[in-house]
Amino acid sequence: MYRLIIGIILFLSINISAGELKLIGKLESGSLIIGKAEGAIKVTLNKEELPIDENGTFIFGFDRDETGTYFLKVKYAEGNIEAHKLTVEKREYNIQRINNMKKKYVTAPNKELDRIAKEREIKKEYRTKIGDVKKALYKKGFYKPVKRSRRSSVFGSQRILNGVPKNFHNGVDYAAPRGTPVYAMTDGIVVQAADNFYYSGNFILIDHGQGLNSFYLHLSKKDVKEGDIIKKGQEIGEIGTTGRSTGPHLHWGVQWYNKRVDPEYLLGMKF
Ligand SMILES: [Zn+2]
Repeated sequence: MYRLIIGIILFLSINISAGELKLIGKLESGSLIIGKAEGAIKVTLNKEELPIDENGTFIFGFDRDETGTYFLKVKYAEGNIEAHKLTVEKREYNIQRINNMKKKYVTAPNKELDRIAKEREIKKEYRTKIGDVKKALYKKGFYKPVKRSRRSSVFGSQRILNGVPKNFHNGVDYAAPRGTPVYAMTDGIVVQAADNFYYSGNFILIDHGQGLNSFYLHLSKKDVKEGDIIKKGQEIGEIGTTGRSTGPHLHWGVQWYNKRVDPEYLLGMKF
């Protein structure tokens, strides 16, 4: 079987060691898990095959409200198989109820609905490219995309306006003056570098391999273009307040395929 070591060192991590397998991350909704299994030739999560890097690195994540039991199976070149049952715990988020809010602050104006729908389709189209890169480009670890800033909103928070639940906050916000440099969280390839979207403003979407991707919204300036190969900590743009935004800040989002994870879980992850 396996043993569990739970340590609190900046980041609460669970290490499961058995044979060659090592998992880094927290088994909780909205979390990202990085696995290392040297010599692995096949890894499956609930029968879904995950891409493995040449040194046995793989990744998976859980959406904001995902919980339950998952089965992870690792098959090695020598023929032995390791299987683990993973239990993903429910995480609580910050929910704010606001009543008597003026309608114009609750929904987007009617004249923008076509544009919003179009932009949603464009984003979806670009997102189909996520997963094309099978290499673990994120292997060098993660870097905070803004240096001096104030965290103005956390991942997962949700507002219920006049009884209507709005989309939860799918990233973390860092407020900093316009023009503050924004850095790539790790190595990757620029999938989308877009201008002037209704909600997101000017933004960049980066593929980090094996389904891991990050996005940087509301930029005043972009320093990269689609197809660019970028390095961890490389400047990719500058903070702004483009799109639906009330002041200069970076909205930093991270997903594993379409599963929305808490970007702040990545900071402090050592692997
Ligand atoms: Zn935000």
